[in-house]
Order: sequence, then C-alpha cells, then structure tokens
Amino acid sequence: MTAAPRAKKSLGQHFLKDAKTSARIVDLLRITSEDRVLEIGPGPGAITGIIHERGPARFRLIEKDGYWAAHHAELERPAPPAVEVLNDDALAFPWESLEGPWKIISNLPYNVASPLMWDIVSRTPELTRAVFMIQKEVAERLYAVPGTKDYGALSVWIQSYVRVEWGFVVGPGAFNPPPKVDSAVVTFVPLPKDRHPKNPEALSAMLKVCFQLRRKQLQSILRRAGRADPAAVLEGLGIAPEARPETLSPAQFQQLAEAFGRSES
Ligand code: SAM
Repeated sequence: MTAAPRAKKSLGQHFLKDAKTSARIVDLLRITSEDRVLEIGPGPGAITGIIHERGPARFRLIEKDGYWAAHHAELERPAPPAVEVLNDDALAFPWESLEGPWKIISNLPYNVASPLMWDIVSRTPELTRAVFMIQKEVAERLYAVPGTKDYGALSVWIQSYVRVEWGFVVGPGAFNPPPKVDSAVVTFVPLPKDRHPKNPEALSAMLKVCFQLRRKQLQSILRRAGRADPAAVLEGLGIAPEARPETLSPAQFQQLAEAFGRSES
C-alpha cells in the first residue's frame, strides 16, 4: 500500500483523531452480536476498528474513496466478522436492498449529510438504529421543534420516521484536518412503521412547496401551487388557513400531504 493520500476536501474528509470520541460515538449504536452494521465513509477507520471489536454478526462499509476502500478490503482482521467493503457513492446506494434489520453509523461527509439521512430514514426497510456525526448546525435542524428558526423540511421529514436523540458536541480539535465548524452526534430511533408517512412522495412535494415560502400563509402557498380549495381542506384538518408552514407539526404535514395527495390522484 502506498503512503496515505492527503485528506480530500471534495469528499468532506475530516478524520477523527480522538480515540475517546470515536468510542463514545460507537457506544451510542449499542452493538450486539446479532446486529448487522453498515458504516458510511470509514476513511482510515477511526470508528471502524472499534465497531469491529464489538463483534456484530455482519459488518459492511461503503466508501467512495478508492484508496480507503482498498485499505479496508486488504486489512487482515484477527477475528470475525469478515468486513464487506463497497467502493461506492453512498448517495447512489439502493437502501431498499438492505434485507433484514440494519444499524447504520457514520461520521458523515458534511457536503452530503442531509440528502443521505433523508434517503436512509425513508428507504431502509428495517432500520433499527442509526448514529451520525454531522455539522452541529444540521443537527440542530434535525432536532428542531415547530415555530423555531431551525425547523424546516429536513426536520419534518426526519422526525416523520425517527425520534432524534441529541448526543454530544465535538469541537474541531478532534479532527485532522480540523473543520471550520462544530460537529454534533445524534442517534435516530425509528418510529413504529404505522407512524411513517403513508404517502412519502406527496409529503416530500408538500415540504418543498411549503418551505420555499415559509413566511407566507398556507392557503396562499397551496393556492399558488395549484391546489384546489386549500382553505376548505385546511379547515377540514383543523389547521388555520392563515397558519405558516413552520408552525405545523410533522403529523400535521403528513395529514396535509395525504389530503392533497388524495385529491390529486
Ligand atoms: N469515518 C472516518 C472518521 O471518522 O475519521 C472518516 C470521516 S470523513 C468526515 C467522511 C468519509 O466519507 C471519508 O472517508 C470520505 O471519503 C467518505 N465519503 C465522502 N463522500 C462519500 C460518499 N458520497 N459515499 C461514501 N463515502 C463518502
């Protein structure tokens, strides 16, 4: 193996160098010998080795950087499980193909964290738990409640599938090279399937329409979007037509998406 290349900015490479932080992140995943664990972006392996030591039943890696994917594929580990390495872009991964229960963990590349989490919560058939380290600002959006400035489409979407538990903040000094911002670790605990959105496409479309115009009243946003009789539908759901999108709970957004999704089909 040749000398390790410089960290690549284009792949959001900020490698953890603090062993205590790495262990705290892995602890949050609560790995047992029954678990199948998927890590996105192992890089040099700050958390990978710790996950492996915890002895899950299966362990899979997805790494876009060919150098680090090869590193893990060639690494001889003294004990099971064998590590399955995919040299792929996680943004193009078919999450629907993950059979059975899986736990997912990552120190996520900041430039792709939001779309990746969006896909993972909504498309993984049996997600049992997930732990992500992300930019603190994004973590605050995941955690945000209605009526706050951080509350937006990402908050509603993620909270429609999982309960978000705040973990801890990690300063730039824990990484090499250090990022410009603080990071935070969050845990996702999936909600029961019967509480997931019944019509995810309609919810996704509704969130895009509403949060592009978050300061406007719902009735005017929906009218502009060509929805028939928005005030009556909103009133039927017990939502004031004058309400602004940022005041609606995830459950209310789901109701709204279903009501308009139905009326359009
Ligand atoms: N897990 C390591 C750690 O904690 O030190 C590395 C974390 S670094 C913030 C992000 C990692 O994700 C890098 O190894 C990078 O190459 C990888 N990566 C970036 N974009 C990716 C993508 N689209 N799919 C898969 N891996 C990606």
